[in-house]
Amino acid sequence: MVNAEAQARTVRRLVKGMPTSDGAGVKLTRVIGQPQLPDLDPFLMLDEFGTDKPEDYIAGFPDHPHRGFETVTYMLDGRMRHRDNHGNEGVLVPGSVQWMTAGRGLVHSEMPEQQEGRMRGFQLWLNLPARDKMTQPKSQEFGPERIPTATPAAGVRAKVIAGSVAGVVGPIAQPATDPTYLDLAIEPGATFSEPLPPDYAAFLYVYEGSISVGAGADPITVRAHELAVLDEGSAVRLAGVTTGADGKSARAILVAGRPLREPVAKYGPFVMNTRDELQQAFIDFQSGKF
Ligand code: MN
Repeated sequence: MVNAEAQARTVRRLVKGMPTSDGAGVKLTRVIGQPQLPDLDPFLMLDEFGTDKPEDYIAGFPDHPHRGFETVTYMLDGRMRHRDNHGNEGVLVPGSVQWMTAGRGLVHSEMPEQQEGRMRGFQLWLNLPARDKMTQPKSQEFGPERIPTATPAAGVRAKVIAGSVAGVVGPIAQPATDPTYLDLAIEPGATFSEPLPPDYAAFLYVYEGSISVGAGADPITVRAHELAVLDEGSAVRLAGVTTGADGKSARAILVAGRPLREPVAKYGPFVMNTRDELQQAFIDFQSGKF
């Protein structure tokens, strides 16, 4: 007989992000894609940005290229305008998601649409398999009203960006990596269990309060601004420990996806499978082929 508790994922390791800056000088915290956690196949990078100081974000990310992967921008606070050279443009407001497939290449900018106030959110880089790296670029944008909320248990709320919870299905479909991306609010003492394919990569990043991971005698408490890399297992079991800014719930993103298990050659904004393909990306960008 299968014991569901025995298959609850445990914490393989806890990682704290590294303060850095990117774009034209935007201050952010790099959690995946830094020396402590260079990648977590299929996830190449996770940045958390969060500040009340305009000087930390106002310079934004002027025109820059991407090829070979996807960027997922999820806004918690603030407004950001994105614009690319394939005719896509939009303003992300709190609760919006932009899922951008760079494919064979685009040039875009990501600039704050505000002079003051708080800017907060995440950008995740999700790899594409070799067969899709040169696909047509595309941008999918979902306002807050298009991100459904599930209430899988008392004291638990899940905004479903990708994947499904309790029959509530998120708007993003990406068959290659089959991602789950949830924004969770969990009250202290409330518990949340969610099945996941056992061999998928998965992480929990807590951004307010604290949440425990695991079942049985030794759950591990994950505190705000810590990322828990989860071990393999057929379910994740979480419990709220302390509250976040609303005085009610801890907040975290739970992200999972199918590993690609392919060679990764990356340099800056290009992520390919071989060095030759990286060189070709530079040549194509410099000759205006994006
Ligand atoms: Mn970008």
